[in-house]
Amino acid sequence: MKALYFDGKLSLRETDEPQRPPSEALIQVIYAGICGTDRQILKGYSGFRGIPGHEFVGRVVECDDARWIGKRVVGEINVICRACKWCRRGLGRHCQRRTVMGIINRPGAFAEFVALPATNLHEVPPEIPDKAAVFTEPLAAACEILEQMPILPDTRVAVLGDGRLGLLVAQVLRHAHAEVTVIGRHGDKLGLASGWGMSVVHAGEQPIADKSFTVVVEATGSPQGLEQALRIVEPRGTVVMKSTFHELARFDTAKLVVDEVTLLGSRCGDFPTAVDLLRGKHVKVDELVSRTFPLEAGLEAFHYLDQTGCLKVLLAPGA
Ligand SMILES: [Zn+2]
Ligand SMILES: [Zn+2]
Repeated sequence: MKALYFDGKLSLRETDEPQRPPSEALIQVIYAGICGTDRQILKGYSGFRGIPGHEFVGRVVECDDARWIGKRVVGEINVICRACKWCRRGLGRHCQRRTVMGIINRPGAFAEFVALPATNLHEVPPEIPDKAAVFTEPLAAACEILEQMPILPDTRVAVLGDGRLGLLVAQVLRHAHAEVTVIGRHGDKLGLASGWGMSVVHAGEQPIADKSFTVVVEATGSPQGLEQALRIVEPRGTVVMKSTFHELARFDTAKLVVDEVTLLGSRCGDFPTAVDLLRGKHVKVDELVSRTFPLEAGLEAFHYLDQTGCLKVLLAPGA
């Protein structure tokens, strides 16, 4: 099969189809999304070598459990041992022996086929088109914040970063009735958020008062975002960290102590919650897709993303 392969450098290769143990399904990838984490992986994050890609929608072509065959699916990316103390506590996403599709020791979805345990799969309801279903994984990550902390109605929340993840987080928190302000640097992306009825602030052009938000979600993808988040969060507030970056972040820890700020790391979330939001059209994702490339043009797709800084680029291995 064709796949994008990273071994310090990304290239298009002809590789074997993924090995499929009996518990796993073989899935033909329809669309795969390129995310910020993939771009960090190409810079060295997680030390990954192999086929990247962890956001996808596909169709099951092989599975020992025949009920899955032909089903359109999305898949949870953490493949867990089910035996360690984290798995036994129901915190499988923290399994110490986990592999993570396209991120840690497991081939990803920038390929014609990908394998995942059948237990990781979720069927996509017919109301959700392919190009929306591919957002299930990042949307689940956005929903994770609500699993980790209560956000009361009318809480003043700033989402720092107007990229794809920021815009998903903003919509999820607004759906939870928070008062959301999106802070970004891109007029077109902020325009989407204001079109959805959110307050927006153009960083660098409009001032943002210190200590003015109860919750600040850092989704800029850059270490400087954290410094900014700590400046605008109010005493006793919470900074939620959503970006994973390869570099180290520098910030003044005294701010955490003096203002008693909580720093909350937040990663992957529950798929069913995200599927429900997509099915109910509570979150807009159509406007986030900038362009779709065939898998063969994968390098060009990464390049396009770097050049344009656009919201979302999809790869279509089936095209
Ligand atoms: Zn991602
Ligand atoms: Zn485990």
